[in-house]
Amino acid sequence: MKVNHAEFIISAVKPEQYPDEGLPEFALAGRSNVGKSSFINKMINRKSLARTSSKPGKTQTLNYYKIEDALYFVDVPGYGFAKVSKKEREKWGEMIETYLTTREELCAVLLIVDLRHPPTNDDVLMYDFLKYYDIPCAIIATKADKIPKGKWEKHKKVVKETLKLKQDDEIVLFSAETGMGKDKAWRILDKWA
Ligand code: GDP
Repeated sequence: MKVNHAEFIISAVKPEQYPDEGLPEFALAGRSNVGKSSFINKMINRKSLARTSSKPGKTQTLNYYKIEDALYFVDVPGYGFAKVSKKEREKWGEMIETYLTTREELCAVLLIVDLRHPPTNDDVLMYDFLKYYDIPCAIIATKADKIPKGKWEKHKKVVKETLKLKQDDEIVLFSAETGMGKDKAWRILDKWA
């Protein structure tokens, strides 16, 4: 998709605030600082529509970005919460679980991981959660520009093996710096939308 228009709509803390036009939604999940905002910005050719986080784990809201009156990107607050209380963490879990398991508009989840490192335990938990509830997902392994090209395949294999990806799971090597993987990611989204 060629994006000319993208707009931040709302930081929602409860379902009543979710948009109600019935447009397809794609949620971005991943640990804090992995590059979710940068992914969104690159996909829509913006420098900073999606706020790149300076305080990891502090955004406890679902951030809705409307793309071309065609779909929403929903930035899910990152997991990995050194800085939030147990109570906040529980509240987070509830909101996300309810959203992921009941939101009819949700087409798929893009699980963003860092290509440089093996997926974390939280990444594995999220992937297993999505599989358990049969929620379509694709893996975006980002920050590919930070490792040499010759090592991409090796790192991709580690991501696949650590998450125990199924045969038909898509994995996209991505870079918000170079735009690598952007076309493939859009093709996957277009297919689902
Ligand atoms: P978020 O917390 O998941 O939304 O992460 P951000 O998008 O704010 O990114 C966290 C940091 O990683 C920022 O300093 C970004 O500039 C950097 N970053 C994100 N994606 C990439 C990438 O593909 N390549 C490089 N080199 N840096 C990236």
